[in-house]
Amino acid sequence: MKILKSAKQIFTSSNPLIIQNGSIVFDEKILWIGKDEDLPKEYIKEAKEIIDVSNKVIMPGFVDPHTHLVFYGDRLNEFELRLKGFDYLKIREMGGGILKTVKDTRKASKDEIKNYVKKIIKNFIRYGTTTIEAKSGYGLDFENEIKLLEIINELNENPLTIAPTFLLHDVEENKSAMDCVNEAISYLKFIKDRNLAVFVDIFCEKGVFEIEETKKFLSEAKKYGFLLKLHTDEFYNIGGSKLGVELNAISIDHLNEITKEDIEIISKSNTICVLLPSTSFLLRKNKYPPARELIDNGCIVALGTDFNPGTSFTQNMQFIILLAVVILKLTIEEAILSATINSAKAINMDKFVGSLEVGKFADILVFDFEDYRYLVYNSAINNLEMVFKKGKRLI
Ligand SMILES: [Zn+2]
Repeated sequence: MKILKSAKQIFTSSNPLIIQNGSIVFDEKILWIGKDEDLPKEYIKEAKEIIDVSNKVIMPGFVDPHTHLVFYGDRLNEFELRLKGFDYLKIREMGGGILKTVKDTRKASKDEIKNYVKKIIKNFIRYGTTTIEAKSGYGLDFENEIKLLEIINELNENPLTIAPTFLLHDVEENKSAMDCVNEAISYLKFIKDRNLAVFVDIFCEKGVFEIEETKKFLSEAKKYGFLLKLHTDEFYNIGGSKLGVELNAISIDHLNEITKEDIEIISKSNTICVLLPSTSFLLRKNKYPPARELIDNGCIVALGTDFNPGTSFTQNMQFIILLAVVILKLTIEEAILSATINSAKAINMDKFVGSLEVGKFADILVFDFEDYRYLVYNSAINNLEMVFKKGKRLI
């Protein structure tokens, strides 16, 4: 049993939201949390380790609900070309884009990919992320998609908690979108039987998988008991958010192009809106989702990195929180909630992570500042001093 004692503030992402001068007692799970003066004496006697964190702030580990964790090889050259003004289609013609990563990933062995991804996981931890969702999607064919899902599952709890998603990502060369959907549907039973994914996701976008194909894939996946996610309304509004709500998806992600009518429909549902501002930022698109309107209309907003080699090569949720406050106009409190408890809801893990409450896993961050608002105010500086995952100190 350990105690983090006398923190200046604990931002709980629960009720009360902020505890001034608080302590937290934990082993693998949180055993007690509250004000210093109420800390029961027997904990102090029994604790193996008492760490004084006065003048510091405690927060829950960040939960990143949207990552493309497993692939091989970067797209650095493509990133630079884009900065020089080349557009995605031109880059694709020149051999870049998702299909470049698919080629690199298919060539790499399982061990090569795992070693590559382990380095990436270190960066998630260095910036305070302790739970992530991870998608397949750079394999496209059966053998390679299964390889990626197996890697995700093998890396789970090592030390990040990883929620696995089977993603239908792109249309393969020389195939129609419907052919790809039918093929992916034929993998679903295998994936379910081996418990390789909890969620399925699809890139629902004009010219990729349109409404008819998306509906077919998700409806079939639902029959197998998968929870549904959609990449949608990122570049064009083709009705993907509406479809997501209709199918009771757990989350709809991106949403740059949603309308007032969409917001109204989403607000009456339990579907979580996962917003990914770094993708728009790094693509230099001046188009962001209407986050303020979503929140003001009662929709639940979560934040993620969209970590991927093409459009958002960042593992840093602190950066996402900064963008959410400055560009999406969330308050600092809303942004932290969206990166912890709401993002845990978006991956159906809010019973276990996402807030500091008795009974939840002790996924705890300690920052070297005295006020949680420094997380945004001391912009782009990593003040993280300690990271605990299920009570075990990682940093
Ligand atoms: Zn994505």
